[in-house]
Amino acid sequence: MDYKKIDKEDIKNIVNIIGDEERVLVGENINEDYSHDELGAIKNMPELVVRVINTEEISNIMKYAYEKSIPVTPRGSGTGLVGAAVPIHGGVIIDLSSMNKILELDEENLTLTVESGVLLMDIAKFVEENDLFYPPDPGEKTATIGGNINTNAGGMRAVKYGVTRDYIRGLEVVLPSGEILNLGGKVVKNSSGYSLKDLIIGSEGTLAIVTKAILKLLPLPKKKISLLVPFNNLESAINTVPKIIKSKSIPTAIEFMQREAIVAAEEFLGKIFPDKQSDAYLLLTFDGNTTEEIEKAYDSVAKICLDNGAIDVLISDTEERQEAIWSARGAFLEAIKSSTTEMDEVDVVVPRNKVAVFVKFIHELEDKHNIRIKSFGHAGDGNLHIYILRDDLSQQIWEEKLNQVMDCMYEKSKELNGMVSGEHGIGYAKKTYLNSSLQKEALLIMNSIKQGFDSKNILNPGKVCQ
Ligand SMILES: Cc1cc2nc3c(=O)[nH]c(=O)nc-3n(C[C@H](O)[C@H](O)[C@H](O)COP(=O)(O)OP(=O)(O)OC[C@H]3O[C@@H](n4cnc5c(N)ncnc54)[C@H](O)[C@@H]3O)c2cc1C
Repeated sequence: MDYKKIDKEDIKNIVNIIGDEERVLVGENINEDYSHDELGAIKNMPELVVRVINTEEISNIMKYAYEKSIPVTPRGSGTGLVGAAVPIHGGVIIDLSSMNKILELDEENLTLTVESGVLLMDIAKFVEENDLFYPPDPGEKTATIGGNINTNAGGMRAVKYGVTRDYIRGLEVVLPSGEILNLGGKVVKNSSGYSLKDLIIGSEGTLAIVTKAILKLLPLPKKKISLLVPFNNLESAINTVPKIIKSKSIPTAIEFMQREAIVAAEEFLGKIFPDKQSDAYLLLTFDGNTTEEIEKAYDSVAKICLDNGAIDVLISDTEERQEAIWSARGAFLEAIKSSTTEMDEVDVVVPRNKVAVFVKFIHELEDKHNIRIKSFGHAGDGNLHIYILRDDLSQQIWEEKLNQVMDCMYEKSKELNGMVSGEHGIGYAKKTYLNSSLQKEALLIMNSIKQGFDSKNILNPGKVCQ
């Protein structure tokens, strides 16, 4: 597809649409940050950035871009990890971070209506102040809700509460042609034709631009407790997880981590973790409304852990101790990143009883290819985060080794009936792996869905399946 390059006339017309020159950035006024996301490895500068403040502006820009065949990439906070918000064909970035108003708390329907640029941390704070709960809890709290919706972000509490998709009741979106569409609503049930809302969720800005969302809320659980469970080795730690799941006790979160990641997080944060004597740990959280209810659940899980090789079960029942543990967990990615020159990541998800097999496989790859590979992740939902680190490898050796280990990991995940991405999405970086993992018919359907929404292929082109 040949896209139109933005010229002076386009800039003038887009400034006229917006009516505020300050919010239209071109040339040297575009910050380099707009050329990449948190992954960093995939880069391209946009020709123009618009900091939009309402749906009508987006609609008018899209009408213009559609008519002129100018590519448009929506962007939230740019914390994505697969290059999905990178404007690989140049064109316009629509920066939604200024559309950050919380519009309505409806306590009778237990919904919160927000603009798509509201940050996850602001939503969490607002609902908790009202004794309510928005369960999705991805690690990066400065991400926008629009970004979370478009990646179907997961996070720590997926074991008990599910992922972003499970909490989206309705959406307002702008189509590539500029039309404004409302999908779903405040209703609890909806069997009214194909769920276009659910197609948009996880579509990584390729089908429509999300401008508003109606979120489902729950009552805030009154009590929370975390267990830090040390094991002699990672294998015993991870092998315990399917037994916990089988026991029908449902923790809010089950994470696994190794001492190295803890030490790196301590150095990164300058804070001491409560324990780092052991090689491997499970970190579990339980929530509920009474101490008795939580104790009953965690007592049985603690026993399962001890029966399966845990050295101890450390209970954190104060805000401070839980914060110390979870802030370290939240810093793992940044800590690992700061320990090397460059890295790439794999975010596969495998059936929960296959996590141990996969982790063992990663360690074998590390030895075989003589490259540093670090992993931690959501053991409770089978979603691993694996980081391949460049350190001081030359560009050529790095690329060779990276491709080899990545190919092996995706192959192994497929063999274990896993999926390419558990929560970070496909974006630009993982397209090859999506292509080789899906059946031909599934890819054809995906491409025809894209065509149905965006016949001129101007919205975030070159991502996901194209
Ligand atoms: C330290 C760290 C920890 C993380 N932990 C997790 C985790 O636990 N779980 C998890 O799922 N992710 C995690 N992530 C990844 C990232 O935070 C999520 O992918 C997040 O959802 C991205 O939101 P964003 O606002 O930064 O979106 P961006 O990176 O700006 O964009 C992501 C994608 O969404 C599209 N998009 C953004 N806003 C809109 C919109 N309004 N309409 C249409 N398309 C839009 C973009 O085009 C792009 O395709 C982590 C990232 C970091 C850096």
